[in-house]
Amino acid sequence: MNVNNCTNRPLVVPCSLDSFNYQIDTYIGCEHYCYYCYALQYAETDWVEEIKIHRDIEEKIYKELENIPPQTIYMGYHSDPYQPLESEMLQTRKVLEILHKKGFSASILTKSNLVTRDIEILKEMPEANVSISVAFDDDEIRKHFEANTINTNDRIDALRLCKEAGIKTSAMICPVIPEITNTEKLVYKLANIANKIWVYGISIKDNTDEHSQNVKNIFKQHFPQKQREIESIIFSNNHSYWSVLRNKLLTIRNDQSLDLSIHI
Ligand code: SF4
Repeated sequence: MNVNNCTNRPLVVPCSLDSFNYQIDTYIGCEHYCYYCYALQYAETDWVEEIKIHRDIEEKIYKELENIPPQTIYMGYHSDPYQPLESEMLQTRKVLEILHKKGFSASILTKSNLVTRDIEILKEMPEANVSISVAFDDDEIRKHFEANTINTNDRIDALRLCKEAGIKTSAMICPVIPEITNTEKLVYKLANIANKIWVYGISIKDNTDEHSQNVKNIFKQHFPQKQREIESIIFSNNHSYWSVLRNKLLTIRNDQSLDLSIHI
């Protein structure tokens, strides 16, 4: 893998999520290489073999935060802030230290347990939030869809440690793949650990996208008997699979009094 410097690119940029004004992506590219990653379709590098970093990240962030009042910054929108390279490059760590020093906070989305390294900083930030994303309870299935992530239980254990440290936690069950993702099981696993859980279905509407092609190839190779059925569900928002799953999740939400946001 090549690590290159990314020059002349702002680090603190407007965030399109409702609750945040700004986001920071500490890396361009993501070694986790989830084959369903939406970012693959507009990536400026090959996304996996070349990762770009900001070598002058501390200087840059100080400057860019100069005229921004303290607030919570979203981290993890385009790439994972705790991808393996972070243990060596410390881009995310350096950003958190500066955010903390200047009175900002962070809301983080990751698929890694490396986030626990920074618990001491995060727990001192006002309103910090750590969120994990999971989709595959079965580890063999996870490996078909995600080339370089850690297993789901290790992610959940990391989230538990964050919660025990007093940090707000959340989880995204995404992407829900019909007949493959055991959504209910994941909700139960996360129920006492995540303060909020979102559920999102997979989006492969355009067959020409790289991530769509990747996912269809996985179905063909590893789930040939189910492929037709899976694709018929994915390409139909009105398929009964979705309404049945929605109803099951609504029942769990009511029974367990969960903050569960369902988007399928
Ligand atoms: S962790 Fe997120 S950004 Fe990284 S490859 Fe997977 S889906 Fe894409």
